[in-house]
Amino acid sequence: MAKIMEGKGLAEDIRDSVKQKVEMLNGMGIEVGLALMLVGDNPSSKQYMAATLKACKGTGIKPYEYKFPESVSINELLNAVHSINNDERIHGLLVFFPLPRRINSRKIVNSILPEKDVDGLGSIPIGKFAAEESTLQLYSEQYDPAITHHLGFLPCTPFGVIRLLEYHKVEIKGKHAVVIGKSLAVGKPLSLMLLTKEATVTICHKETKNLAEMTRQADILCTAAGKPNLITGDMVKDGAVVVDIGINMLENGKVAGDIDFDSVSQKASLVTPVPGGVGPVTIAMLLENTVKSAKARI
Ligand code: NAD
Repeated sequence: MAKIMEGKGLAEDIRDSVKQKVEMLNGMGIEVGLALMLVGDNPSSKQYMAATLKACKGTGIKPYEYKFPESVSINELLNAVHSINNDERIHGLLVFFPLPRRINSRKIVNSILPEKDVDGLGSIPIGKFAAEESTLQLYSEQYDPAITHHLGFLPCTPFGVIRLLEYHKVEIKGKHAVVIGKSLAVGKPLSLMLLTKEATVTICHKETKNLAEMTRQADILCTAAGKPNLITGDMVKDGAVVVDIGINMLENGKVAGDIDFDSVSQKASLVTPVPGGVGPVTIAMLLENTVKSAKARI
Protein backbone atom coordinates (compact mmCIF):
# COMPACT_ATOMS: atom_id res chain seq x y z
CA MET A 1 0.00 0.00 0.00
CA ALA A 2 1.45 3.35 -1.06
CA LYS A 3 2.57 6.09 1.28
CA ILE A 4 0.74 9.34 0.57
CA MET A 5 2.99 12.05 -0.85
CA GLU A 6 1.31 15.09 0.68
CA GLY A 7 2.20 18.54 -0.63
CA LYS A 8 0.99 20.42 2.42
CA GLY A 9 4.14 20.11 4.56
CA LEU A 10 6.45 21.30 1.78
CA ALA A 11 4.05 24.08 0.79
CA GLU A 12 3.94 25.26 4.40
CA ASP A 13 7.76 25.28 4.64
CA ILE A 14 8.01 27.31 1.42
CA ARG A 15 5.30 29.74 2.57
CA ASP A 16 7.05 30.21 5.95
CA SER A 17 10.29 31.06 4.21
CA VAL A 18 8.44 33.43 1.84
CA LYS A 19 6.77 35.11 4.82
CA GLN A 20 10.14 35.75 6.47
CA LYS A 21 11.51 37.28 3.26
CA VAL A 22 8.40 39.45 2.86
CA GLU A 23 8.81 40.69 6.45
CA MET A 24 12.46 41.49 5.76
CA LEU A 25 11.47 43.48 2.66
CA ASN A 26 8.64 45.20 4.55
CA GLY A 27 11.26 46.26 7.10
CA MET A 28 13.07 48.02 4.23
CA GLY A 29 9.85 49.76 3.24
CA ILE A 30 9.15 47.44 0.30
CA GLU A 31 5.76 45.76 -0.12
CA VAL A 32 5.71 42.64 -2.29
CA GLY A 33 2.94 42.61 -4.91
CA LEU A 34 1.53 39.87 -7.14
CA ALA A 35 -0.97 40.55 -9.93
CA LEU A 36 -3.55 37.87 -10.76
CA MET A 37 -5.30 38.09 -14.13
CA LEU A 38 -8.57 36.22 -14.55
CA VAL A 39 -10.76 36.26 -17.66
CA GLY A 40 -14.31 34.91 -17.54
CA ASP A 41 -15.55 32.49 -14.92
CA ASN A 42 -13.84 29.14 -15.50
CA PRO A 43 -14.50 27.25 -12.23
CA SER A 44 -10.95 25.75 -12.03
CA SER A 45 -9.34 29.16 -12.57
CA LYS A 46 -11.64 30.75 -9.98
CA GLN A 47 -10.72 28.07 -7.48
CA TYR A 48 -7.00 28.47 -8.23
CA MET A 49 -7.35 32.25 -7.83
CA ALA A 50 -9.14 31.89 -4.47
CA ALA A 51 -6.42 29.53 -3.20
CA THR A 52 -3.69 31.92 -4.42
CA LEU A 53 -5.35 34.89 -2.71
CA LYS A 54 -5.51 32.93 0.54
CA ALA A 55 -1.84 31.97 0.26
CA CYS A 56 -0.88 35.60 -0.48
CA LYS A 57 -2.69 36.69 2.66
CA GLY A 58 -0.82 34.14 4.76
CA THR A 59 2.59 35.36 3.59
CA GLY A 60 2.01 39.12 3.48
CA ILE A 61 2.23 39.36 -0.32
CA LYS A 62 -0.19 41.98 -1.58
CA PRO A 63 -2.43 40.63 -4.37
CA TYR A 64 -3.70 42.85 -7.19
CA GLU A 65 -6.75 41.36 -8.88
CA TYR A 66 -7.34 42.00 -12.56
CA LYS A 67 -10.69 40.46 -13.51
CA PHE A 68 -12.17 40.70 -17.00
CA PRO A 69 -15.38 39.45 -18.61
CA GLU A 70 -15.23 36.67 -21.22
CA SER A 71 -15.86 39.35 -23.89
CA VAL A 72 -12.62 41.26 -23.15
CA SER A 73 -10.51 42.25 -26.16
CA ILE A 74 -6.86 41.27 -26.56
CA ASN A 75 -5.89 44.95 -26.53
CA GLU A 76 -7.53 45.49 -23.16
CA LEU A 77 -5.55 42.55 -21.77
CA LEU A 78 -2.31 43.79 -23.35
CA ASN A 79 -2.91 47.25 -21.87
CA ALA A 80 -3.41 45.69 -18.45
CA VAL A 81 -0.15 43.71 -18.78
CA HIS A 82 1.73 46.86 -19.85
CA SER A 83 0.35 48.73 -16.87
CA ILE A 84 1.42 45.86 -14.54
CA ASN A 85 4.88 45.82 -16.17
CA ASN A 86 5.25 49.51 -15.29
CA ASP A 87 3.74 49.26 -11.81
CA GLU A 88 6.58 49.38 -9.28
CA ARG A 89 4.33 47.89 -6.58
CA ILE A 90 3.92 44.65 -8.55
CA HIS A 91 6.72 42.07 -8.76
CA GLY A 92 4.96 39.23 -10.53
CA LEU A 93 1.99 38.47 -12.77
CA LEU A 94 0.10 35.20 -13.05
CA VAL A 95 -2.41 34.81 -15.89
CA PHE A 96 -5.01 32.07 -15.35
CA PHE A 97 -5.52 29.76 -18.31
CA PRO A 98 -7.38 28.94 -20.42
CA LEU A 99 -8.07 32.37 -21.94
CA PRO A 100 -10.98 32.62 -24.42
CA ARG A 101 -10.05 30.84 -27.69
CA ARG A 102 -10.05 34.04 -29.76
CA ILE A 103 -7.28 35.51 -27.53
CA ASN A 104 -3.73 34.60 -28.54
CA SER A 105 -2.40 33.38 -25.16
CA ARG A 106 1.22 33.41 -26.31
CA LYS A 107 0.91 37.09 -27.18
CA ILE A 108 -0.32 37.83 -23.66
CA VAL A 109 2.36 35.74 -21.93
CA ASN A 110 5.12 37.20 -24.08
CA SER A 111 4.05 40.74 -23.21
CA ILE A 112 4.92 40.11 -19.54
CA LEU A 113 8.37 41.45 -18.66
CA PRO A 114 10.61 38.38 -18.10
CA GLU A 115 11.54 39.68 -14.63
CA LYS A 116 7.83 39.71 -13.68
CA ASP A 117 7.02 36.43 -15.45
CA VAL A 118 6.92 34.47 -12.19
CA ASP A 119 5.32 31.42 -13.85
CA GLY A 120 8.21 31.38 -16.36
CA LEU A 121 6.04 30.63 -19.40
CA GLY A 122 7.16 33.40 -21.75
CA SER A 123 9.44 32.56 -24.68
CA ILE A 124 12.47 34.14 -22.99
CA PRO A 125 12.42 32.13 -19.71
CA ILE A 126 11.41 28.97 -21.58
CA GLY A 127 14.20 29.47 -24.12
CA LYS A 128 16.76 30.10 -21.39
CA PHE A 129 15.57 27.01 -19.57
CA ALA A 130 15.73 24.85 -22.71
CA ALA A 131 19.25 26.19 -23.33
CA GLU A 132 20.20 25.13 -19.77
CA GLU A 133 20.93 28.71 -18.78
CA SER A 134 18.57 28.67 -15.81
CA THR A 135 18.67 25.04 -14.66
CA LEU A 136 20.96 26.09 -11.80
CA GLN A 137 17.76 26.93 -9.93
CA LEU A 138 16.87 23.24 -9.85
CA TYR A 139 19.91 22.61 -7.69
CA SER A 140 19.88 25.36 -5.12
CA GLU A 141 17.15 27.03 -3.13
CA GLN A 142 19.57 29.63 -1.92
CA TYR A 143 20.80 30.98 -5.23
CA ASP A 144 21.28 34.70 -5.58
CA PRO A 145 17.99 36.35 -6.64
CA ALA A 146 20.00 38.66 -8.91
CA ILE A 147 20.94 35.57 -10.93
CA THR A 148 17.28 34.57 -11.31
CA HIS A 149 16.47 38.07 -12.39
CA HIS A 150 18.90 37.63 -15.21
CA LEU A 151 17.98 34.02 -16.05
CA GLY A 152 14.20 33.98 -15.78
CA PHE A 153 11.96 31.98 -13.49
CA LEU A 154 11.14 28.30 -13.78
CA PRO A 155 7.46 27.31 -14.32
CA CYS A 156 5.82 26.77 -10.94
CA THR A 157 3.98 23.46 -11.43
CA PRO A 158 6.84 21.35 -12.84
CA PHE A 159 9.35 23.03 -10.49
CA GLY A 160 6.96 22.18 -7.64
CA VAL A 161 6.87 18.52 -8.75
CA ILE A 162 10.67 18.32 -8.63
CA ARG A 163 10.71 19.94 -5.17
CA LEU A 164 7.97 17.54 -4.00
CA LEU A 165 9.91 14.48 -5.19
CA GLU A 166 13.05 15.75 -3.45
CA TYR A 167 11.15 16.60 -0.28
CA HIS A 168 9.97 12.99 -0.15
CA LYS A 169 13.55 11.82 -0.84
CA VAL A 170 12.78 10.27 -4.22
CA GLU A 171 15.99 9.67 -6.17
CA ILE A 172 15.53 10.97 -9.74
CA LYS A 173 18.97 10.32 -11.23
CA GLY A 174 19.09 7.14 -13.33
CA LYS A 175 15.38 6.42 -12.91
CA HIS A 176 12.94 5.92 -15.75
CA ALA A 177 10.45 8.80 -15.56
CA VAL A 178 7.32 8.66 -17.70
CA VAL A 179 5.47 11.96 -18.15
CA ILE A 180 1.93 12.04 -19.54
CA GLY A 181 1.18 15.36 -21.21
CA LYS A 182 3.35 17.60 -23.37
CA SER A 183 1.89 21.04 -22.66
CA LEU A 184 4.08 24.11 -22.40
CA ALA A 185 2.93 24.75 -18.84
CA VAL A 186 3.39 21.28 -17.37
CA GLY A 187 4.39 18.19 -19.38
CA LYS A 188 7.16 19.63 -21.53
CA PRO A 189 9.03 21.64 -18.85
CA LEU A 190 8.61 18.79 -16.35
CA SER A 191 10.16 16.35 -18.83
CA LEU A 192 13.09 18.73 -19.33
CA MET A 193 13.54 19.15 -15.57
CA LEU A 194 13.57 15.38 -15.03
CA LEU A 195 16.07 15.07 -17.88
CA THR A 196 18.23 17.78 -16.29
CA LYS A 197 18.16 15.70 -13.11
CA GLU A 198 19.41 12.79 -15.23
CA ALA A 199 16.35 10.58 -15.34
CA THR A 200 15.66 8.64 -18.54
CA VAL A 201 12.49 10.33 -19.74
CA THR A 202 9.59 9.08 -21.87
CA ILE A 203 6.94 11.64 -22.83
CA CYS A 204 3.43 10.38 -23.63
CA HIS A 205 0.49 12.30 -24.99
CA LYS A 206 -2.97 11.76 -26.43
CA GLU A 207 -1.62 10.13 -29.60
CA THR A 208 0.64 7.69 -27.74
CA LYS A 209 -0.15 4.12 -28.76
CA ASN A 210 -0.58 1.69 -25.89
CA LEU A 211 -0.12 4.07 -22.98
CA ALA A 212 -0.13 1.24 -20.43
CA GLU A 213 2.95 -0.31 -22.03
CA MET A 214 4.80 2.96 -21.39
CA THR A 215 3.47 3.66 -17.90
CA ARG A 216 4.33 0.14 -16.68
CA GLN A 217 8.01 0.94 -17.31
CA ALA A 218 7.96 3.98 -15.05
CA ASP A 219 9.91 4.20 -11.81
CA ILE A 220 8.45 7.70 -11.56
CA LEU A 221 5.12 8.29 -13.28
CA CYS A 222 3.88 11.88 -13.61
CA THR A 223 0.49 12.47 -15.16
CA ALA A 224 -0.81 15.84 -16.38
CA ALA A 225 -3.49 14.93 -18.91
CA GLY A 226 -6.60 16.34 -17.27
CA LYS A 227 -8.47 13.01 -17.66
CA PRO A 228 -10.00 11.42 -14.57
CA ASN A 229 -9.23 7.70 -14.08
CA LEU A 230 -6.74 7.69 -16.99
CA ILE A 231 -4.28 5.68 -14.90
CA THR A 232 -5.42 2.53 -13.14
CA GLY A 233 -3.46 0.16 -10.90
CA ASP A 234 -2.77 -2.34 -13.71
CA MET A 235 -0.87 0.41 -15.59
CA VAL A 236 1.58 0.97 -12.71
CA LYS A 237 4.74 -0.97 -11.88
CA ASP A 238 5.04 -2.37 -8.35
CA GLY A 239 6.76 0.19 -6.12
CA ALA A 240 6.55 3.09 -8.61
CA VAL A 241 6.31 6.71 -7.45
CA VAL A 242 3.17 8.31 -8.91
CA VAL A 243 2.68 12.07 -9.14
CA ASP A 244 -0.83 13.12 -10.14
CA ILE A 245 -0.82 16.66 -11.49
CA GLY A 246 -4.29 16.51 -13.07
CA ILE A 247 -7.07 18.67 -11.66
CA ASN A 248 -10.50 17.62 -12.93
CA MET A 249 -13.78 19.14 -11.78
CA LEU A 250 -16.26 16.26 -11.67
CA GLU A 251 -19.97 16.65 -12.30
CA ASN A 252 -20.67 15.95 -8.61
CA GLY A 253 -18.64 19.07 -7.74
CA LYS A 254 -15.65 17.09 -6.43
CA VAL A 255 -12.07 17.53 -7.63
CA ALA A 256 -10.13 14.50 -8.90
CA GLY A 257 -6.75 13.90 -10.47
CA ASP A 258 -5.86 11.65 -13.42
CA ILE A 259 -5.42 8.44 -11.45
CA ASP A 260 -7.77 5.91 -9.98
CA PHE A 261 -6.39 6.47 -6.50
CA ASP A 262 -7.58 3.24 -4.88
CA SER A 263 -6.14 0.83 -7.43
CA VAL A 264 -2.94 2.85 -8.03
CA SER A 265 -2.17 3.09 -4.33
CA GLN A 266 -2.24 -0.74 -4.15
CA LYS A 267 0.75 -0.84 -6.52
CA ALA A 268 2.73 2.38 -5.98
CA SER A 269 5.20 3.03 -3.15
CA LEU A 270 4.39 6.76 -3.04
CA VAL A 271 1.43 8.58 -4.54
CA THR A 272 0.21 12.19 -4.44
CA PRO A 273 -3.39 12.93 -3.43
CA VAL A 274 -5.66 15.30 -5.36
CA PRO A 275 -6.40 17.72 -3.83
CA GLY A 276 -3.53 18.27 -1.40
CA GLY A 277 -0.57 17.05 -3.49
CA VAL A 278 0.99 19.12 -6.28
CA GLY A 279 -1.60 21.95 -6.09
CA PRO A 280 -0.50 23.62 -2.84
CA VAL A 281 3.17 23.31 -3.84
CA THR A 282 2.49 25.05 -7.18
CA ILE A 283 1.00 28.04 -5.36
CA ALA A 284 3.86 28.13 -2.85
CA MET A 285 6.38 28.11 -5.74
CA LEU A 286 4.55 31.05 -7.31
CA LEU A 287 4.92 33.02 -4.07
CA GLU A 288 8.59 31.99 -3.80
CA ASN A 289 9.26 33.26 -7.33
CA THR A 290 7.39 36.49 -6.54
CA VAL A 291 9.44 37.26 -3.45
CA LYS A 292 12.62 36.45 -5.39
CA SER A 293 11.52 38.92 -8.04
CA ALA A 294 10.99 41.57 -5.34
CA LYS A 295 14.42 40.86 -3.79
CA ALA A 296 16.08 41.09 -7.17
CA ARG A 297 14.68 44.60 -7.65
CA ILE A 298 16.14 46.04 -4.40
P1 NAD B 1 -3.33 20.57 -21.61
O1 NAD B 1 -4.74 20.28 -21.99
O2 NAD B 1 -2.63 21.75 -22.20
O3 NAD B 1 -2.44 19.29 -21.92
C1 NAD B 1 -2.91 17.99 -21.67
C2 NAD B 1 -1.89 17.02 -22.21
O4 NAD B 1 -2.35 15.71 -21.92
C3 NAD B 1 -1.72 17.09 -23.73
O5 NAD B 1 -0.34 17.10 -24.04
C4 NAD B 1 -2.40 15.82 -24.26
O6 NAD B 1 -1.74 15.29 -25.40
C5 NAD B 1 -2.29 14.89 -23.07
N1 NAD B 1 -3.42 13.95 -23.02
C6 NAD B 1 -4.74 14.25 -23.03
N2 NAD B 1 -5.48 13.12 -23.02
C7 NAD B 1 -4.61 12.10 -22.98
C8 NAD B 1 -4.75 10.68 -22.96
N3 NAD B 1 -5.96 10.12 -22.99
N4 NAD B 1 -3.64 9.92 -22.94
C9 NAD B 1 -2.41 10.49 -22.91
N5 NAD B 1 -2.20 11.82 -22.92
C10 NAD B 1 -3.30 12.62 -22.96
O7 NAD B 1 -3.35 20.68 -20.03
P2 NAD B 1 -2.23 21.23 -18.99
O8 NAD B 1 -2.34 22.71 -18.88
O9 NAD B 1 -0.93 20.60 -19.26
O10 NAD B 1 -2.84 20.61 -17.64
C11 NAD B 1 -2.94 19.22 -17.49
C12 NAD B 1 -3.67 18.92 -16.20
O11 NAD B 1 -2.92 19.41 -15.11
C13 NAD B 1 -5.05 19.56 -16.09
O12 NAD B 1 -5.90 18.70 -15.38
C14 NAD B 1 -4.78 20.82 -15.27
O13 NAD B 1 -5.91 21.26 -14.56
C15 NAD B 1 -3.71 20.30 -14.35
N6 NAD B 1 -2.83 21.33 -13.78
C16 NAD B 1 -2.55 21.21 -12.47
C17 NAD B 1 -1.71 22.11 -11.87
C18 NAD B 1 -1.39 21.94 -10.40
O14 NAD B 1 -0.90 22.84 -9.79
N7 NAD B 1 -1.64 20.76 -9.84
C19 NAD B 1 -1.18 23.17 -12.60
C20 NAD B 1 -1.44 23.24 -13.97
C21 NAD B 1 -2.28 22.30 -14.56
